[in-house]
Amino acid sequence: MTITKLKSGLSRDAAGREMYGLLTELYPVCRSITGDGFRATLAHLQRHIQLEQHEVPSGTRVFDWTVPKEWNIRDAYIKNAQGERVVDFRRNNLHVLNYSVPVNRRVSLEELKEHLFTLPDHPDWIPYRTSYYCEQWGFCLTARQLAELNEAEYEVCIDASLEPGHLTYGELYLPGETPDEVLISCHACHPSLCNDNLSGVVVASWLAKNLVKIARRYSYRFLFIPGTIGSITWLSRNQEKVAAIRHGLVLACVGDPGKFHYKRSRQGGAEIDRAAVHVLQHSGQPYGVADFDPYGYDERQYCSPAFNLAVGCLSRTPHGQFPEYHTSADNLELVRPEALGESLWKCLAIVSVLENNRTYWNLQPRCEPQLGKRGLYRAIGGVQDAQQTEKAMLWVLNLSDGKHSLLDIAERSGLSFDAIHAAADALVEHELLKDVLEVASSAASR
Ligand code: ZN
Repeated sequence: MTITKLKSGLSRDAAGREMYGLLTELYPVCRSITGDGFRATLAHLQRHIQLEQHEVPSGTRVFDWTVPKEWNIRDAYIKNAQGERVVDFRRNNLHVLNYSVPVNRRVSLEELKEHLFTLPDHPDWIPYRTSYYCEQWGFCLTARQLAELNEAEYEVCIDASLEPGHLTYGELYLPGETPDEVLISCHACHPSLCNDNLSGVVVASWLAKNLVKIARRYSYRFLFIPGTIGSITWLSRNQEKVAAIRHGLVLACVGDPGKFHYKRSRQGGAEIDRAAVHVLQHSGQPYGVADFDPYGYDERQYCSPAFNLAVGCLSRTPHGQFPEYHTSADNLELVRPEALGESLWKCLAIVSVLENNRTYWNLQPRCEPQLGKRGLYRAIGGVQDAQQTEKAMLWVLNLSDGKHSLLDIAERSGLSFDAIHAAADALVEHELLKDVLEVASSAASR
């Protein structure tokens, strides 16, 4: 099956609802950059896609970094004199400073306050805070909870372990016709946060689940990794595979109803950059495009100077630009099934451009071939479509000189890639066009 067929047979709404269902299952899991929460997340995904689970020992050197100790947490609370949990990890896992060292003792309110994080501007939201590379303990709570702490002493307990163990990541490789790869990467290391991390995880999973079904020109590699340290670890362990990566996308914050944003790769004008921008331009919806900057998600590592991979980042509202970002309000209400469905559709459209972006030779390059006598006008419905189809065929015929790809032609003509691709298919069928690679291989065999 081709990707064009796949798309026409899928229901975007149904896919959105399914992805939202998976996201709802993943929401309560307390994830971090290492530990059982990350493994539990991969186990959920493994019911849908055949992910391989990798375990890298703590202490492993990965370029300038070291794989950290593994963190696992069972329980955490702040109890008052009556023994009531006034802050309770079981109610929301954001209450614990992620990667906290264990603690179990009575502390004065004054000392406790040095370990508390709140959001005064949003008194009902719990902030999400981490301390991966500096050993400390802490709690995150709403400003209202903080205001109610008025006893002299509290009991604090974080029943966690921070010990030598492993960093875990998930990988799925789908071989295609060529060993050239498309990399799809997402971070899966945040606890109960929906748009930032889980939306990318479920859209990447559904993209993989669907690409399994098609005849692929490219090979695809999906990575479900802890942010930053995960991509550094993968790149450090797979340097021989990097050369095969032709195109790549980091997926993050793709579940909110905001408009789409694409952040270009460091290369700026790579095929993935052009494909993504083309898809957004022709979507009929508002969108934003940003140039590369070395701040953001794992594209920072893929685009570091020694690799400089053609990896961009697709988001709806980008990180840090929505008020709920890194707070308990990034929840199941912020993310919408329809938004996830649309994000999957954009990914499929971008992949469709990459899969179908071929370069052809016009086999009748002396003046225009006569399209009418070949019935090339007849297979067309409405008048406007007919005009567009004719235009698309004339553009493809004119620019198919072995040098211009279909994406080049779409950009230059202002027509959508889908229209250009459909015209090229019709012209190939009527033997007016031949893929340059086929021409080269038949010349070589002669
Ligand atoms: Zn984040």
